[in-house]
Amino acid sequence: MTVVREGRKAPEKRQMPGGRKAPEKRQMPGGREVPEEQQMPGGREASEEQQMPEGRQASEEPDELYERLKAFEGRAAATAGTGKDPVNEPMIRHWCEAMGDTNPAYAGPDAVAPPTMLQAWTMGGLSGHTDRSAAYEELFGLLDGAGCTSVVATDCEQEYLRPLRPGDLITFDAVIESVSERKTTKLGTGYFVTTRMDVRADGEPAGTHRFRILKYAPAAPKRAAERGGRSLRPRPVINRDNAGFWQGVAEHRLLIQRCGDCAALRFPWLPGCNACGCQEWDTVEASGEGAVFSQVVMHHPPFPAFGADGAGGPYAVALIELAEGVRMVSNVVGVPYDKVRIGMPVRLEFLRTDDELELPVFRGGEG
Ligand SMILES: [Zn+2]
Repeated sequence: MTVVREGRKAPEKRQMPGGRKAPEKRQMPGGREVPEEQQMPGGREASEEQQMPEGRQASEEPDELYERLKAFEGRAAATAGTGKDPVNEPMIRHWCEAMGDTNPAYAGPDAVAPPTMLQAWTMGGLSGHTDRSAAYEELFGLLDGAGCTSVVATDCEQEYLRPLRPGDLITFDAVIESVSERKTTKLGTGYFVTTRMDVRADGEPAGTHRFRILKYAPAAPKRAAERGGRSLRPRPVINRDNAGFWQGVAEHRLLIQRCGDCAALRFPWLPGCNACGCQEWDTVEASGEGAVFSQVVMHHPPFPAFGADGAGGPYAVALIELAEGVRMVSNVVGVPYDKVRIGMPVRLEFLRTDDELELPVFRGGEG
């Protein structure tokens, strides 16, 4: 659950031969740096719509649950945890490769670990944590019981007290540092829970790692209800580079771009030719004949707008190879999702999904 992807390199000044450094605010992927208490889920896959600049109090009514949650502040989240491995060169090397960090301080006989690896040495791995406290489980149980069943990591903050070197043995304790009042975000209503982990190396304080999550009751079902209970497919992003494609769809023509210089066909639409770079182009109308080049079946999560009956699936997503040679991602209709096969011939048609959207899809089988 608490997977943090560190997205930034440690600046030079943080390789600290010694001394206490200012905490570094880390952001979750897609997140932005905003003041504490306003830090909101940037969301791994969160759309613009889901990104919220700030939380707000849900209401003025007394929050009995909050009082019970607040009582967990200061209680242990994990006690006497130990790192599964000592600080070691292979993990440092893998981290640096993944981050593209070639700083020489992290290699060679006097190597230190990148400071931002702090949490990596404490992670439980796939087999999980064995040191999580009963209080932590109880806090989560209370939140789950109140309908706050979803969780999103919002941000973390680290402070480095001493460099970590290969061979250091890591131990840690974690405390439930704070629970926020009830907040409402676009994701839903819930509580921010901040855990602080104190990390030691060979028994000496090495750093602290604060991690904040939002445990919330998802708001998404309500949004669907507000639309009269009907889910809609996502809107295409139409811009000057692809407007001609959507104009074609409106006229029930599937248009492929053709390079003005080398005549290579291309799809999806792009400003220039992948083969020669030429920016001149015209279009060719697809015959509509094609075949399934590859396909996957979506089972979870369900998106009701994509299911033929509104149930959300399973449904097949296919890569269609058009007779002209280009490929496009689309849906196969007229064939049960588990009967779609690679090589199956398909024919273009246009599906009106709602009042405002029409999409090219492909009818499979005997037609
Ligand atoms: Zn070209």
